Amino acid sequence: MYPDVDLHIAGTWSAGSAGERLPVLNPATGETIGQLAVASRDDLDRALAAAERGFATWRRVSPFERSKILRRAADLLRERVEDIARIMTLEQGKPLAEARMETLVAADVTDWFAEEGKRSYGRVIPARQDGVMQFVVREPVGPVACFTPWNFPINQAVRKIAAALCTGCSVILKGPEDTPASCAALVRAYLDAGVPGDALSLVFGDPAAISSYLIPHPVVRKISFTGSTVVGKQLAGLAGQHMKRVTMELGGHAPAIVFGDADVEKAVSVLGANKFRNAGQVCVAPTRFLVHESVFDRFVDGFVALAEGLTIGDGLDPETRMGPLIHGRRLEAMESLTADATAQGATLRTGGKRIGNRGNFFEPTVFTDLPLSARIMNEEPFGPVAAIQRFSDDDEALTEANRLPYGLAAYAYTRSAERATKVAARIESGMLGINHHGLAVPETPFGGVKDSGYGSEGGAEALEAYLTTKFVSQASV
Ligand code: NAD
Repeated sequence: MYPDVDLHIAGTWSAGSAGERLPVLNPATGETIGQLAVASRDDLDRALAAAERGFATWRRVSPFERSKILRRAADLLRERVEDIARIMTLEQGKPLAEARMETLVAADVTDWFAEEGKRSYGRVIPARQDGVMQFVVREPVGPVACFTPWNFPINQAVRKIAAALCTGCSVILKGPEDTPASCAALVRAYLDAGVPGDALSLVFGDPAAISSYLIPHPVVRKISFTGSTVVGKQLAGLAGQHMKRVTMELGGHAPAIVFGDADVEKAVSVLGANKFRNAGQVCVAPTRFLVHESVFDRFVDGFVALAEGLTIGDGLDPETRMGPLIHGRRLEAMESLTADATAQGATLRTGGKRIGNRGNFFEPTVFTDLPLSARIMNEEPFGPVAAIQRFSDDDEALTEANRLPYGLAAYAYTRSAERATKVAARIESGMLGINHHGLAVPETPFGGVKDSGYGSEGGAEALEAYLTTKFVSQASV
């Protein structure tokens, strides 16, 4: 039911040359469900040589042909959605409906980049001299090393590989060791659709060993990483030493401001669904809920009722609305954040404990009245824990929203156009959803500011990351 996962290098799927394997666990049961091949230094060298060859040939394939191949990949993802979603739920834990949706969105992302890749136009700039033509040419940056995490095993990867491939770059993808098979299924769909084997390699192993080898390597021209701010800063530093282009999609701590004139019921249902989606392991999940005192009790009562009404269990069960956390480290993180908040005098409204002792299940948890010193008010929880605070003045809420060094997503609920405009102007975040969620569709920018990183993984902006600019000034002889 769950496949063992090999590396893909230079057109061949194989176990790593050292024969080392890692177990893959089902987070809902703790059982080992498969084995994952680990890349050795030799394997990485083969992937680098393939990426160099792959870039030389793939960049010469016309954008029109590349587009046809990517569109085929999108169709294959749609055809294979049931198999891929099942594998993803087994290894990641999310409800099957969410895994299905993730796979179908990956097809949409692929389609979108298939089209947009045809439009990475240059420019002609009028010259000062007669007989001179001045061209601005956009070229693919070169082989790209991508590092993607386990929370959205397909979607974090597809945003990078589709954007890189549509511009003519080759890719070495270091996939997520906790959730490798669905990521491998994505790569397989791309290869089956006609992406050359040299242009797309997939490796797994020790993340730090792989990144510290690939980033400085002269073949690699661009790095794209999704993960924590701490690791992102290390990798960006290393890339900087070697003058490599970088995209960083890092952590967040999204504020959600619910003003006194908000549609409170809508705010509860949309923010609640997005807090607990994927068991809170989402970089744009709302975390600090800043609620006006006039609607505070209504919001908290509704939010607690929503949290307590969620059916928690194995993602394969169609009744399940929230699955387990990915691994024991996240469970420990939830226990530690919860203990800290309680010790610092916060009010625990619901949840706060691990569920059972099989699988990594944690109760949907809601705190109110937290001191700003509570860790949950400062650290990304990356789990199903919400912190709801009361405010009385709009400026106070905006100051709190901008207090942290993170700046990925933010949300606001208000019926006032004036308030919405004020939030849009003053919020320090890469993305803002007003009166709905509305983020992360393929055609819109996706990325953060401040410690949440830089660069964008959606919209036309996403292509910029994979293109260089060449200026050509040509005089007639
Ligand atoms: P972790 O820091 O061990 O790993 C997070 C991700 O970074 C994993 O995919 C891992 O493979 C990768 N990674 C870690 N060290 C690396 C290195 N030196 N080089 C290359 N890749 C490296 O933490 P974890 O316990 O697995 O996840 C928890 C934290 O990670 C969360 O608190 C969250 O902030 C962050 N995270 C963020 C996202 C996101 O979407 N932005 C996704 C997953 C995890």
